Amino acid sequence: MTSSLAATTNPLLNLDYLPALEALGNEFYDVVEAASFPQHQLRFRNDAILAQLGLDPAQVSDEHFIQAFGQFLQRQPFLALRYHGYQFGEYNPYLGDGRGFLYGQVQGTDGTVYDFGTKGSGTTPYSRGGDGRLTLKGGVREVLAAEALHALGVTTSRTLSLIETGEGLWRGDEPSPTRSAVMVRFSRSHIRFGTFERLEFHQRPDLITKLLEHVIDLYYPAARLFTDPQDRFLQFYDELVDRVAALAAQWMTAGFCHGVLNTDNMSITGESFDYGPYAFIDQYDPRFTAAYFDYAGRYSYGNQPMICQLNLKALHKPLKLVMVEADLEATLGHYQERYLGHYRQRMLRKLGLENLAAELAIAIVNQTQNLLGSVNVGYHDFFLGLTQQFSPQWRDDSSQILSTTLEASDPAAAEALRLWRDLYHRCLQTLPAEAMETVRQCLSSTNPKTVLLRPEIEAIWEPITTDNHWQPFYDLLQRIQHPFEAN
Ligand code: AMP
Ligand code: MG
Repeated sequence: MTSSLAATTNPLLNLDYLPALEALGNEFYDVVEAASFPQHQLRFRNDAILAQLGLDPAQVSDEHFIQAFGQFLQRQPFLALRYHGYQFGEYNPYLGDGRGFLYGQVQGTDGTVYDFGTKGSGTTPYSRGGDGRLTLKGGVREVLAAEALHALGVTTSRTLSLIETGEGLWRGDEPSPTRSAVMVRFSRSHIRFGTFERLEFHQRPDLITKLLEHVIDLYYPAARLFTDPQDRFLQFYDELVDRVAALAAQWMTAGFCHGVLNTDNMSITGESFDYGPYAFIDQYDPRFTAAYFDYAGRYSYGNQPMICQLNLKALHKPLKLVMVEADLEATLGHYQERYLGHYRQRMLRKLGLENLAAELAIAIVNQTQNLLGSVNVGYHDFFLGLTQQFSPQWRDDSSQILSTTLEASDPAAAEALRLWRDLYHRCLQTLPAEAMETVRQCLSSTNPKTVLLRPEIEAIWEPITTDNHWQPFYDLLQRIQHPFEAN
């Protein structure tokens, strides 16, 4: 079959692309073209997403992926989205899709409209002297982050495909020249807090209203039920605050540090996306920073909940052009309590304890944080140890609780361990003996056996760079996609 013939029957090109964002008008984007690349090698395809799009993976060939997402034989215009953003606290009006675009939007089998967004597809009016490209390593890292987070129950974008494109790129943070790739991201929306900030910068309340109605129509079904625009907008913001609080709690309990929480990296749907210099933490250290250029530790692991709150506050500036500021303030006032509610709920699951009385629940979560900060144990190792060593006998004898893995090296750690052990024991005692099996199941379905720590990523990158050997990458993918199964 010739390439052009295959294109007419390519299921990816023949999807029903909706002009959702395009219909908002050209105030919001620039129509752009993709670069053409010297080579196309499919390195990753996400068949689970094909099913979500109603496609049978067996009917979609690797060549179809390359035509659609490497050669860009298109049916619909590609849109470089316009946005600004606060980067490390400074307002930057020179942003926008500089190395990617909105490829298209498609309704999934669940009724939700999803974005296909490229990364590394060439320059746009927003490239600012950049090459518009993505390094292969950057692409591999984003694929891994999204799949790992998704498997851990974090609301995240996914990756539809990663195609190596045969160019040599120069980067300060990778040995160069380094290999190039183009990635297609699958997400709930590429509308960012910074998309609204740009409209405030240009003093366009009319466009803020238009964008807000669009966001509500597509992504906030509960807000749609309110006929009065003010009620509708406030319901949207209230739900956004809750989604962002939930997301921060998901990152924190997963032990994930996003690394660059600028307002242009905050999705208006409350979904996690854009994985650059992220890291999963090894030890529980709130001061851990993922980005080497984050000198002040602004986006440290422990700062994430507070930074999310600040970003929600920054969104008041555009929103107050069309809403009452006092209402926004009052709604944001609930952020902390919402965050703590989500955090505790997820942390209790990691401890195997779902149905505890509120007071005890708060105490054990606090005591666990205290313990993790005092004893010399890895964050994930602690929960995996708890999972693998759990015994129903712990309910009867507190001295057996994690007796082999946890040792205190100094008196403060010994005290933290004693307090934690006593409290965990009390928690187990509030449950009937028959509930111990439920505790075990909760532990093993919540705490991952494989964690995407940096050495794991470097270990799969090494054979790719030296021998173009990809199997370790696929093996790691398999393990992080099924993190609760035996390795
Ligand atoms: P990021 O750090 O990936 O969130 O990107 C921040 C901004 O820089 C966005 O406007 C990107 O489109 C732009 N950008 C990042 N890398 C490049 C590149 N290699 N070429 C052009 N623009 C880029
Ligand atoms: Mg970004």
